[in-house]
Amino acid sequence: MGTESGKVISFKSLNKTVGRFNPKEKTFLIPQMNRIGGHLLAATFRGFGIHARVMDTYKGLDLGKKFTSGKECYPCQITMGDILYFMEKEREKLGEAFDPERYIYFMPESSGPCRFGMYNKYQRIILDSLPELSRLKIGSLTTDDGYSLSGMIDKDRVRDLRKASYFSLVVADILDRLLWRVRPYEKDPGSTDTFIERSMRQMEEVFEKLGPEKAFDQILDRMEGIIENAKDLMDPHVVRKPLIGIVGEIYLRTHTQANQDLIRVLEKYGAEVVNASVTEWMNYTSYDRLRDARTAFRLGIKQLRFGPVKEQVKKIMRFGSELYYQELRQKKVYDRLTSKIDLARDHKVRDLERVLKEEDLFSFDAGTEACLSIPGIVEYAQEGYNGVVNVYPFTCMPSTITSSIIRPRMDQLGIPYLDTPYDESIQPGREAAIRTFMYQASQHFKQHGRKAF
Ligand code: SF4
Repeated sequence: MGTESGKVISFKSLNKTVGRFNPKEKTFLIPQMNRIGGHLLAATFRGFGIHARVMDTYKGLDLGKKFTSGKECYPCQITMGDILYFMEKEREKLGEAFDPERYIYFMPESSGPCRFGMYNKYQRIILDSLPELSRLKIGSLTTDDGYSLSGMIDKDRVRDLRKASYFSLVVADILDRLLWRVRPYEKDPGSTDTFIERSMRQMEEVFEKLGPEKAFDQILDRMEGIIENAKDLMDPHVVRKPLIGIVGEIYLRTHTQANQDLIRVLEKYGAEVVNASVTEWMNYTSYDRLRDARTAFRLGIKQLRFGPVKEQVKKIMRFGSELYYQELRQKKVYDRLTSKIDLARDHKVRDLERVLKEEDLFSFDAGTEACLSIPGIVEYAQEGYNGVVNVYPFTCMPSTITSSIIRPRMDQLGIPYLDTPYDESIQPGREAAIRTFMYQASQHFKQHGRKAF
């Protein structure tokens, strides 16, 4: 679509250069949200012949801020900066040979009443406004179809890729939990961070080699070895510490630079921390699609519309079997690895919905991360955690809802609770607030003890 000024963006661009593309002979760029998860996922993709790379993060924040107005969510600014910075560096490195068409930038989306679904459109508009970058494609998977990977790889390998990718995220969660379990008790400061970084690199090689074969037992053999070695880093004389649960917006709670290394700050003031996992979100998207299909099925029956009913039955079977597979796989991994060390398990999404209904606090019909955070906090409180922190980008709608609903409930339960909204600014009172929160949590710990996994 031509225009006088040349500044109006063609909406065709949103169809042609945002979507699901076959990454054959392209470099598939994965943003670094959760460091370990991103690297193991990229390694799995490489095993399937997709040339995947994890982009550096947080180095291009100035660029991200330059091309946003300040009203967007903080993760949108960070990811915008990440891709612009990456492209700039590639252009410097490759010179004349630089060709943006050789890359696919991976930016998933989610439907529902939240701005995440608009990131890839917004970023498309920015990329289109810059010389050459209009040719860079955005590879987008959506929660609407449970992040289906079809179209990205030969049809007969899609299921295997999906299974291996999910498995890589479960293993990444375990490595993260191992870090948070061991680090507060380490003999030598810094040894756990170094060890986990090295282990992540080893597991990248393992996933690249064994992921495509779905040799999951062999992969877990390697994880068992890592856990045994990690245990040697712990000082058995250090007594267990107050247990803090983290919930919140998935990007902020898993991106350590964005949340100003919150877990480490909590540990500095005496905590052992469990963060909600990435696979919890994957399970939620499958659960929610299944739930939607069931609702549409019931409506179709009521209205006697048998065409849509048939369609919904197919969806129920597909999403139902996906959820069943994911939960079973996750359970098997945790069953095996938690026999070596006591790590926290995830809440089941169906249990979280039950908690919401029983407590009459919120509804899954409204969607968003609040569906997980609100009941997740209640579960932490009832299980014997000593405090809960809600982490989110400044102005994040679902997390603000969570905060407004859960505060009075936490007061009733007498469990310390802290909201930590972040943008790039350093708030002068932040550390004092965390220290005060940890004082309350340690008082709770002294009076009530803590949950054992
Ligand atoms: S969850 Fe919050 S931060 Fe993330 S896109 Fe939605 S509103 Fe923005």
